[in-house]
Amino acid sequence: MKIISDIQELRDHLRGQNRASFVPTMGNLHEGHLSLMRLARQHGDPVVASIFVNRLQFGPNEDFDSYPRTMQADIDKLEKEGVYILFAPTERDLYPQPQEYRVDPPQQLGDILEGEFRPGFFKGVCTVVLKLLSCVQPKVAVFGKKDYQQLMIIRQMAKQFALPVEIIPGETVRAEDGLALSSRNGYLSTEERAEAPELQKALRDVRARVLDLNERNTHSLIEIEKIAVDLLTSRGWQPDYIAIRQQCDLAPASNESLKAGEPLVILTAAKLGKTRLIDNLEI
Ligand code: AMP
Repeated sequence: MKIISDIQELRDHLRGQNRASFVPTMGNLHEGHLSLMRLARQHGDPVVASIFVNRLQFGPNEDFDSYPRTMQADIDKLEKEGVYILFAPTERDLYPQPQEYRVDPPQQLGDILEGEFRPGFFKGVCTVVLKLLSCVQPKVAVFGKKDYQQLMIIRQMAKQFALPVEIIPGETVRAEDGLALSSRNGYLSTEERAEAPELQKALRDVRARVLDLNERNTHSLIEIEKIAVDLLTSRGWQPDYIAIRQQCDLAPASNESLKAGEPLVILTAAKLGKTRLIDNLEI
């Protein structure tokens, strides 16, 4: 595997390749990331991965400085997956000048859910993803459904800018107890790690109640969301949101969309101690 930090060198190595597939990451790789590498291999060749902890998408009180950086272990994992190039730019490589041009996603997608609790997050994400896509120029790029809203926003960005790339979604990889794998799981104490699968259980409970609602109209969707928030809160979590949304645009689900059989998704973000976890479940 070639490890490249310089944009020009990356371009030189990829010259003439028009079937490359690309998986951008922030490193500290786990099975979830590696599953995306395998998916990328099915859709293009060579596989290019990137590791870059993108300062632009972190808020002032977030974990940019403490975000886990495990480059050597990551390199070993990518080698085993047969990744052809690891693009691992420094901040100076990727942002040689202050990145003053930014991509601002539309409010109705970028300022809701994650965007409401992490202002500017998706602006930082879109900006770095556009730049990485411009560096690698892949035929396909793979993003995880774990970051459901991010996947949707990147798809729309690619569409509205007519980027010559196909965005491919990867399923969420979970631990045996249901917890979605995440680099931030490493922040959890032993007790918190034991509690963490309750987030996924809460989503499953919401899904069961929503499906039940179809038959016996007992609760409204908002009540169902509140039951889940209250349950997690009583267990010591600090939920930011549990939201039942339409898959197509992440707009709030209504009883009408439910009746029409509109595909829905339940999204959540909640803090356990100091660690903020996100997850989602499609209905
Ligand atoms: P990150 O390093 O957290 O920026 O994630 C890089 C990519 O891996 C993103 O497309 C994520 O959605 C994806 N990803 C993160 N966790 C998982 C997981 N548990 N299963 C599948 N994909 C994941």
